[in-house]
Amino acid sequence: MNPAGIYIHIPFCQKKCGYCDFYSLTRLQDRDNFVQALLTEIELVAPKYRDMTFDTIYLGGGTPTLLTTDQISLIWESMNHHFNIEKPGEFTIEANPGTIDLSKLSRLRELGWNRLSLGAQSFNDSDLEFLERIHTVQDIFDGFWNARQAGFTNINLDLITAFPGITVDKFENSLNQTISLKPEHISCYSLIFEKGTQFYNRWQIGELEPMNSDESVPYLDVCRRMFSTAGYTGYEISNFARSQKLRCKHNLKYWNHIAYLGFGPSAHSFISPVRWKNHHSLTKYMDSLKKMQQPMAEEEILSQQTLEFEYVFLRLRLREGLDTHDFKKRFKNNFLNKYEKNITRLIEAGMIEQNRQYLRLSERGWFLADEIASSF
Ligand code: SF4
Repeated sequence: MNPAGIYIHIPFCQKKCGYCDFYSLTRLQDRDNFVQALLTEIELVAPKYRDMTFDTIYLGGGTPTLLTTDQISLIWESMNHHFNIEKPGEFTIEANPGTIDLSKLSRLRELGWNRLSLGAQSFNDSDLEFLERIHTVQDIFDGFWNARQAGFTNINLDLITAFPGITVDKFENSLNQTISLKPEHISCYSLIFEKGTQFYNRWQIGELEPMNSDESVPYLDVCRRMFSTAGYTGYEISNFARSQKLRCKHNLKYWNHIAYLGFGPSAHSFISPVRWKNHHSLTKYMDSLKKMQQPMAEEEILSQQTLEFEYVFLRLRLREGLDTHDFKKRFKNNFLNKYEKNITRLIEAGMIEQNRQYLRLSERGWFLADEIASSF
């Protein structure tokens, strides 16, 4: 069995960004109680997974860096005490550039976090204001250089594109500034107006209009071209790395259907064929743990059909493509025979290519990944 991953969700933000649909609250006064609940959850759950090893930990949110370094240290120690964590592993902590300084970053690095994911989002202050971020462009530069000084040699920058008011020129400026910093990894996502967000509500009353998928193509195109020229490989639709070794090992577990455990409110876990998720409410999450109960809200045993579909959907988003030999090993099914007609149609339409046992999206198909994956 491949080593699994651990995700820990920290559900606090200083301010809610208008586009965000991650579970997070601004009730910062609950941080201490939350950390106590999280430590209880780890203690309750860990004994069930004593025979498993883990080589990635991802502290995400929310804004993990809103916790004190002492609180993050307690979480780190608890993880390492209760789970078989392989070293050297990939240990990522997400940070909002408005919430870090050199001393905090140095303590995090000393603890053992060895990858920093910085939510830059844009290098234009007017965009950051529109996105309702708490930081400025200067904060990104300061955060990045402080992280380097603290010893982070693996840094990801998150960017957002295709949102109202952005132009290709402004986006190119963001990309140039990103490249000038030489991060090891870059993620770049198109903005989606998810139900329940402020942006979605503003769309419903005609205040904002999201870009449609055709309008977002030039942004994705310029992104791929500029990153490729700068030496980054787009190994997943929205993710770029300077080398194979620098690809995000934790996220690759999601895309390759490898097991992971999730902790914290709203976190998901997956050990094939079972997926479960925690309460999507900090209050319910903490109440369960006060009663020494696992804070699980739902558990689902995925059917073979769902597992196959998810596998195809996720693997087609990877540059490497779908490995038909691996598909056969996992599902005892011949993918090429099962979908022969669809595969022939997509190859003839120039949307996918076949190279030995791999089927992957073509340059044209890259922009229609979701539609193509859904056709299987
Ligand atoms: S900082 Fe991140 S998690 Fe928090 S509200 Fe903004 S986008 Fe969401």
